[in-house]
Amino acid sequence: MNRASLAPLLLLSVGIALAQAPAGEQKPAPPAEARSFDLTAIDKTADPCTDFYQYACGNWDKSNPIPSDQTRWARSFSLLGERNRYLLWEELDAAAKNPKSPLEKKYGDYFAACMDTALIDKEGMAPLKPAMDRIESLTDAHKLGELIGELAEHGDPAPLFRFGVQQDEKDASQQIAGISQGGLSLPDRDYYINDSKRFQTIRQQYHDHVTKMFTLAGDSPEQAAKETDAVLTIETALAKASTSRTDLREPENRYHIYTLADLEKLTPDFDFNAYFKDVNVGHFDTLNVATPNFFKSLNDLIGSEPVDAWKSYLRWQTLHASAAELPKDFRDENFDFFEKTLAGQKEPTPRWRQCTAQTDRALGEAVGQDWVKQHFPPKAKASMDQLVAALEKALGEDIQTLPWMSDETKKAAEEKLNEIRNKIGYPDHWRNYDALTVKRDDPLGNMHREAVFQRNFNLAHLGKPVNEKEWGMTPPTVNAYYNPSLNDINFPAGILQPPFFDPNVDPAVNFGGIGVVIGHEMTHGFDDEGSKYDGKGNLREWQTADDRKQFVERTDCEVKEYGGFEAAPAHADTPAAHLNGKLTLGENTADNGGLRIAYIALLDTLAKEGKSIDETIDGYTEKQRYFLGFAQVWCQNQTEQSARQAALTDSHSPGRWRTNGAVQNFDEFGKAFSCKKGQPMYPENSCRVW
Ligand SMILES: [Zn+2]
Repeated sequence: MNRASLAPLLLLSVGIALAQAPAGEQKPAPPAEARSFDLTAIDKTADPCTDFYQYACGNWDKSNPIPSDQTRWARSFSLLGERNRYLLWEELDAAAKNPKSPLEKKYGDYFAACMDTALIDKEGMAPLKPAMDRIESLTDAHKLGELIGELAEHGDPAPLFRFGVQQDEKDASQQIAGISQGGLSLPDRDYYINDSKRFQTIRQQYHDHVTKMFTLAGDSPEQAAKETDAVLTIETALAKASTSRTDLREPENRYHIYTLADLEKLTPDFDFNAYFKDVNVGHFDTLNVATPNFFKSLNDLIGSEPVDAWKSYLRWQTLHASAAELPKDFRDENFDFFEKTLAGQKEPTPRWRQCTAQTDRALGEAVGQDWVKQHFPPKAKASMDQLVAALEKALGEDIQTLPWMSDETKKAAEEKLNEIRNKIGYPDHWRNYDALTVKRDDPLGNMHREAVFQRNFNLAHLGKPVNEKEWGMTPPTVNAYYNPSLNDINFPAGILQPPFFDPNVDPAVNFGGIGVVIGHEMTHGFDDEGSKYDGKGNLREWQTADDRKQFVERTDCEVKEYGGFEAAPAHADTPAAHLNGKLTLGENTADNGGLRIAYIALLDTLAKEGKSIDETIDGYTEKQRYFLGFAQVWCQNQTEQSARQAALTDSHSPGRWRTNGAVQNFDEFGKAFSCKKGQPMYPENSCRVW
């Protein structure tokens, strides 16, 4: 998060989004404990060889309905996430009431300001006035560059595109400027373009929502409807000009080095010089234009849309981005469309959870310093070092045994593996927040100052040596990631706890949990996207042409396999939603590789300890407990709306398919549960990349 990176990090799981919603009545309560291995989760009426997810998770799914203020509820991610958030809330609440250091005062004030909905309700639209006045002063669409720059300068929402500093994809030692598409409000371009009945309905509901927000802001219903038409026209044109998520996964599709002069030729009607001056970025001659077609179309749109349409668009973007810090009517209306209608959430997210997450995003390495002191013992870091070493060794062994790969490519793969860096727990050096001013009586202003602070932090990297020690996630986060440009794997303290990692359970369960997570992140270095980068983080082919061909045949097998999995069932007038095999390919490859190499590492570890994989605990062999431990990480319930949205936007498959897809591709599973060859979880033909 602190790099505002334009090149995506490869995460373990999608961040569970928090709603922007009004204050809930609920008081925070200590959450239920997340258990490592759960016999009561198992559905013994199911056949593990037919549907292993149902077997491992069926009872848990049945007895853990989605709480009304969530859209998905996962046995590991949600329970541990709730626990971490609760512990963070305790810290924030205490700091807000009785800060013991200047840093505690800063994050305590940030949290307290966010929680002050009485103040927010009282101030009404007043905090938005400076931005709205700036937008109102626009007299000519050709002055959009100056206006967007001015909005960004003050930390106001500045839509249309994302600009920042990133590592050069082809020379990872360099940090260069980069610019990419943006400007949409709905979750994906498909929401604007897809012609099916379902999306037509959603667009109508979106139209109603935008109109309502304009009327809440004081416009007449006629004026609001007219403004909404302009918003839809501009956003739909931007959607059509956008590159799809799937195409953006190809690094070549997002790498186009332009001189500033060429950027001006591409989008002559947008004054980028004014924009760059306003955001105060250092000097540069070339930059990466990730999506040139988008900027070409943006120029056409500046010529075709009248100035009033742009004003409507920018007013809407301001209202939308600020909704959580606006009075209750706005917050309710925002919840109603984005969480309830689009994602199926029944009740708003309690304010304390929203503000805890927001403070973590804004000041994560300030709050995190105290959090890790209390919740991440040095012992945990040492155990993780051992586990990572075991997984590295296993991946090395796996590479050596790949039947299809030439010796030359195996050697290059080993070199890349040896260059992977590990980051565990939290940063060696914490970020300094002195330049961020926080005011207890100015929640929206805090957000604006924070936006400027984060941007300045990112832009200061321009032309500087790469700092390999920076983190892209805060310490309490329940997630992990691989960054191809740094060739590093990162495990925040937040995930290094039960049910992923528990010093009190047998190794099989830990290898099925955190072991697979480590293997997953390592395999990202070798999935369809990560494998295009070398060990130094440069976009450079290191496979031979023939091996690359073989590799693509194998990844194509997974594209087809996962593309056949259903994400949501058909109804009378709505077809079933299937996974996008290409969008989820990298994650599926990482899941499959992770399951295989953590198993190898478990065998090595048990052999070293003189233990047998056939030893039985609670009626299950260690082999079976490994696969059960893995599957139970993925037990989850999800609203159908959210599942449909995720099928379009999430590069991760849902829990059921993360489990069944990976085990059916790994013969050791079928053997462990004595399945018959040809049963669904032990098929005659399966896919294997790594
Ligand atoms: Zn991943």
